Amino acid sequence: MKFGGTSVQDASAFARVAEIVRNENENSPVVVTSAMSKVTDALLNAFDLAKKGDYEFAFASIEPHFQRHTKVAEELTDNAQQIFFQSELDFAKNELADLLMRVSRRSLPLQMLKDAIVSYGEQLSSRLLAEVLKAKNLNARQMDARRLIVTDEEYGAATPIWSETEKLIQIELQPLIEAGEIPVLGGFIAASRSGETTTLGRGGSDYSAALVGAALRGGEIQIWTDVTGVLTCDPRVCSDARTIKTLSYEQAAELAYFGAKVLHPKTIQPAVDFQIPVRVCNSHQPSEKGTMILPKSDIMPRVIKSIAHKTGITILRITSARMLGAYGFMSAIFQIFERHRTVIDVVTTSEVSVSLTLDNTDAIDAIVKDLTRLGQVKIEPDQAVICVVGEGLRGMPGVAAEIFSTISDVNISLISHGASSVNLTFVIKENEVKNVITKLHNNFFN
Ligand code: ADP
Ligand code: ASP
Ligand code: MG
Repeated sequence: MKFGGTSVQDASAFARVAEIVRNENENSPVVVTSAMSKVTDALLNAFDLAKKGDYEFAFASIEPHFQRHTKVAEELTDNAQQIFFQSELDFAKNELADLLMRVSRRSLPLQMLKDAIVSYGEQLSSRLLAEVLKAKNLNARQMDARRLIVTDEEYGAATPIWSETEKLIQIELQPLIEAGEIPVLGGFIAASRSGETTTLGRGGSDYSAALVGAALRGGEIQIWTDVTGVLTCDPRVCSDARTIKTLSYEQAAELAYFGAKVLHPKTIQPAVDFQIPVRVCNSHQPSEKGTMILPKSDIMPRVIKSIAHKTGITILRITSARMLGAYGFMSAIFQIFERHRTVIDVVTTSEVSVSLTLDNTDAIDAIVKDLTRLGQVKIEPDQAVICVVGEGLRGMPGVAAEIFSTISDVNISLISHGASSVNLTFVIKENEVKNVITKLHNNFFN
C-alpha cells in the first residue's frame, strides 16, 4: 500500500491512512509512504540555496516542514512516542545542517549530497507514519528502505539491481509479515552497493511500492493518491476527467510514460513481471474503487481510454542529404544520445531526416554539437507530447481521422503511430495543450 504526499500531508491525512491500513490488516499489508506533501520540493530548494553559499538560510527554509511533522506527532501519538520522534527529528536536523554545509563547501560530489538531503522527506514521513499506526494499535515497524532497495550510482534517477533487491526485501520483510507486523518504509529512497543514499527519480515512491509488491509476490499493489484512480485525462487540464475502471498493463505504462503523473513510469514493469494487479485509489475517498490495472482490460465501446500529456518537450530535427540510401546513420545518431545519457521519447524518420523529442535537455548543447557533424540540426523548444491510449488503436479504422479532425485547427509537428498497438502519440506547441485535450476529451468522453 503506497501513500503519496497529499495522502500524508497533515494529521487528518495520517489518521485516514491508519484507517485504510486497518481495513487491510488481515491481508498482511506492507506500507510505503512518500514524504509529506511539499517536503521534497522544500529539500531540493534548500539544496539549491546551499549551493549558492548560504547554508544557514537554506537550513532555516526547511524549519516550517519540520514543524509540520512535530504537529502530526503531537496530534496523533502519545507522549513517549512524541519524545522518541522528536529525538529522531533532532538527529535528522543535525545531519541535514551538516549536509547543507557540505553542499556550500562542495566537500562531496553535489549529486550525492542532493540525494542524501532529499531522502530525509521519506526517512521522516515513514518514521512518523509508523508511530501513528502504532498509536492506533496497529503492529507497525519502520524499516529503512535504503537497506532493502539496492541501486546503481546514478544519483537522482537510480536503477534498482533487481536480484539483490528482491532477496533483501524477502529476507528482511517476510519474517516480519509472518509475525503479523506491518513494515512501513519510505518510498523513493534506496542505496547503492557501497551504501550511499540514492533516489529513484521524482514520483519514485510508486516504483518502490511496485518493487516491494513484486519481491513479496503480493496479491495487489495499491497506489493511494489524491484522485480516484487513473482518469480519462489530467484533471488539472480538463475538469470533466473521469475514473477509468480498468486498464491493461500496457495502456497504463504508456499513460505513465507520456505524462499521467498519477503513476511513476517505471511502476508497471515489476507488476507485469509477476502479474500482480495494481489498484489506484483515493485516500480521501477510500470507499471508491478507483482503477484496476490488469494483464488485459475490457475493451470499451469507444476505444479511447485516456489522454496523457507531457509539457516541456524539445524537438530536435536532424537533416542530412548523405543519409539517402545510407546505412549506419540512425545508429550514429542514437549513439550520440547514448553517450550523453539522454532519453529519446518519440522518433519519426524520412529518407533524409530524423525528428525526435527530448524531455531532459541538460546535455542538449553537447548533443547538438555532436549531431552537427552528421547533418543540419534544428531545435524547437516549448512543445508538448499528447498520447492517446486505447485498446487496439493501431487496428481500428477511423480513429486517427477522428482524432485529427477534432483538432484540425492545431498544427501537429510530429506523429508516431503503430509502434505500440495501444497508443497514438503526437507533438504540438505547449500553449495548445489545454485546447487540444479539452476538445479531444469532449469528443471521446462526453
Ligand atoms: P501522489 O503524491 O499521490 O503520488 P501525484 O501528484 O504524483 O500524487 O499524482 C496524482 C496527480 O496526478 C493527480 O492529482 C492529477 O493531478 C495528476 N494526473 C495527471 N494525469 C492524470 C490521470 N490521467 N489520471 C489521474 N491523475 C492524473
Ligand atoms: N517524495 C518524492 C517526490 O516528491 C517521491 C514521491 O512522492 O513519489 O518526488
Ligand atoms: Mg506521485
